[in-house]
Amino acid sequence: MEKILIIEDEKDLVTGLKFNLEARNYKVISAYSGEEGLKTALLDKPDLILLDIMLPGKNGYKVCMEIKQKMPDVPIIMLTAKSQEPDIVAGLDMGADDYITKPFGVLELIARIKAALRRSKQGKVVPDIINTGNLEIDFRKYVARKKKKPIELSNREFEIMKYFVEKKNEIVTREDLLNHVWGYESYPNTRTVDTHIAILRQKIEDDPNEPKIIITMHGLGYKYIG
Ligand code: CA
Repeated sequence: MEKILIIEDEKDLVTGLKFNLEARNYKVISAYSGEEGLKTALLDKPDLILLDIMLPGKNGYKVCMEIKQKMPDVPIIMLTAKSQEPDIVAGLDMGADDYITKPFGVLELIARIKAALRRSKQGKVVPDIINTGNLEIDFRKYVARKKKKPIELSNREFEIMKYFVEKKNEIVTREDLLNHVWGYESYPNTRTVDTHIAILRQKIEDDPNEPKIIITMHGLGYKYIG
């Protein structure tokens, strides 16, 4: 389930968008000011951001620039008022990926969101083969080796590793893993994640008690060092 952050001070608009996006299976989080939006973006790592320009305090352009400095890969769609059209170029200069002019139809926005998410996924370079420590994984052939000897990873374990590789050196929360590897259909609890990681470590780490590939970030989740 993809997570969308709405940074917008018009609460009715946020409520309406939230309703429509959640109905299409997006997870929605919101912030009502630039500062709050910036903080939420860095903390909750959304897959996409809808960003209003006219915000109290820090305006949308500044927020866009600061988010892009810290999270260059997250797609940002600017929400602009008709009168601000000449400023759209400025938004795109700040690194925004797209814009939509208010008032907009929900279907048009959804189409833009889908397109932006698709582009951002294509842009991500996840290697076909990783080689780290004594571990080698070929994601195309679904083959894994430890110290040159074949090891058996389940499909779920391949998916977990793929997600970690995609998020190399980033903190991955248990919830991130649940959302991206398990999906919402069969929603297990976060302990399931820990159990799977423990089993995976038995297979891939030299010493599962001193993991060097997938490390624990206490109180936060995990991090793939690779
Ligand atoms: Ca506004």
